[in-house]
Amino acid sequence: MKPARFAYVRAASVDDAIALLGTHGDGARLLAGGQSLVATLNMRLSAPDLLIDINGIAGLSDIRLNGNTVEIGALARHAQVERSKVIARHAPLIARAMPFIAHPAIRNRGTFGGSIALADPAAELPACVLALGGTLQIAGPDGPRSVAADDFFTGLFETALGPQDMLTAVHLPAANPDCRYGFAELARRHGDYAIAGLAATARVQDGAWHDVRLAFFGVADRPLRATAAEQALTGATPDDQRIDAAVAALNLPYTSDVQADAATRRHLAGVLLRRVIRHMMEQKA
Ligand SMILES: Cc1cc2nc3c(=O)[nH]c(=O)nc-3n(C[C@H](O)[C@H](O)[C@H](O)COP(=O)(O)OP(=O)(O)OC[C@H]3O[C@@H](n4cnc5c(N)ncnc54)[C@H](O)[C@@H]3O)c2cc1C
Repeated sequence: MKPARFAYVRAASVDDAIALLGTHGDGARLLAGGQSLVATLNMRLSAPDLLIDINGIAGLSDIRLNGNTVEIGALARHAQVERSKVIARHAPLIARAMPFIAHPAIRNRGTFGGSIALADPAAELPACVLALGGTLQIAGPDGPRSVAADDFFTGLFETALGPQDMLTAVHLPAANPDCRYGFAELARRHGDYAIAGLAATARVQDGAWHDVRLAFFGVADRPLRATAAEQALTGATPDDQRIDAAVAALNLPYTSDVQADAATRRHLAGVLLRRVIRHMMEQKA
């Protein structure tokens, strides 16, 4: 299929993109890697009047360590993130998730910011950013602002981004030797969107787990933390009894679709939680 007719403009700067969004309202869409947007245009699930191409805006694809923060520009391509030494060293959870995102051709074009802004409930990166307690840097008509990942993902493909907002960067706390990171997903074929997935972090002190964050994806309408399971794992070294308690506490609003029903997703979430906890327990500082 071919998309409906649309106009196209290249934004020269973030301010330019925000101004264009303001002028054209809901009829405009930002174009980043195009790996999701162009498919929706071709299937006519979306028919914007104007595409605002943000690929030419300078300075939005840097990946750097700034103090204790890993800063990832919104236009950093998945492939760039995958090969980044800064990510490998200071954001190991992101490094672990990258190979699960689609296939190399899609990772060559798709952007970190596009994935976060789209907020597909089955996508890996939103859950990783949630597990890490990252913050989203947003430019809008009233200037720049930061939104915590806990407040950013608000529903099915819905986020705290307003119609005139643009995500400019994602900030993540740099890896700490006291922290453990875990990631696993279940998909029918490698590279497919996950039927269920889990990104997890915990700080370990004298063997006891603290600040446990379990962000599930692919199981509900958005990436979601399993807070009751987090509590079950907090304050001690996980053992069989605690892990059983955490699995029993997985009370997420599971979705049913053609891939799997809610009961299957509930089961898979437990399988993933056991797998990820074991993996995190084996990690060395
Ligand atoms: C066959 C296939 C398989 C895939 N499998 C996976 C997978 O397993 N896991 C996964 O996570 N993804 C997968 N993807 C999606 C891929 O990761 C995309 O790159 C990503 O979802 C969107 O990034 P993009 O840069 O291509 O964004 P685009 O397609 O350009 O944009 C997506 C949406 O985000 C908005 N947007 C983009 N950038 C910004 C910004 N900076 N600020 C505000 N809004 C913005 C756009 O307006 C649009 O609404 C797959 C895609 C394909 C085609």
